[in-house]
Amino acid sequence: MKKKELINFMSRIKAHYQDFDINDFKIDEWYEQLKDYDILDLNKKLDSHVKGEYGDYPPKINYLTHDLIKSFNKGATPSYIVECPMCHCDVSIQRFEIHYSRCSAINYLSNKCEKHFGAKINKQALYVMEDDKFDKLYINFLNKIIDKNTLEETKIIMKILYPNNSDEVINDMVSSLFNK
Ligand SMILES: [Zn+2]
Repeated sequence: MKKKELINFMSRIKAHYQDFDINDFKIDEWYEQLKDYDILDLNKKLDSHVKGEYGDYPPKINYLTHDLIKSFNKGATPSYIVECPMCHCDVSIQRFEIHYSRCSAINYLSNKCEKHFGAKINKQALYVMEDDKFDKLYINFLNKIIDKNTLEETKIIMKILYPNNSDEVINDMVSSLFNK
């Protein structure tokens, strides 16, 4: 993208969020981070952010670029952006599978958190979290809620926790849990 396009883009953010500062230093800094991305992708991402759950706050760079691919990696694929059916966010096709599994996990976590603890979670922070960190958090959480679930739900969770085990082993593990 060109610097002029970035300034336009930042002005779009400013139009939605008056507290969003634009100055020369920030423009240079943002340009460094965003110059390799396609301005059309970023505009789409901003559109979905504004309408989304966290639309009250200006978007952060890591959220804007998350699940987008850099212009020079796109190749000749014309339709490289798809909408995630779960969060309605625009995601590059190459990142879709990874995004979708993270998205499903986050939704599951969010529903369970609200149901069992009456707490709302910051989904956006979870989307941009590194894989290792997220996996750890997710497994911890699943362990925490395991005793609040039904037998069927627990089986599903155990399959996620121990993907290499057969259904039989999982069933054994679950019944020993429930017989305690
Ligand atoms: Zn999604």
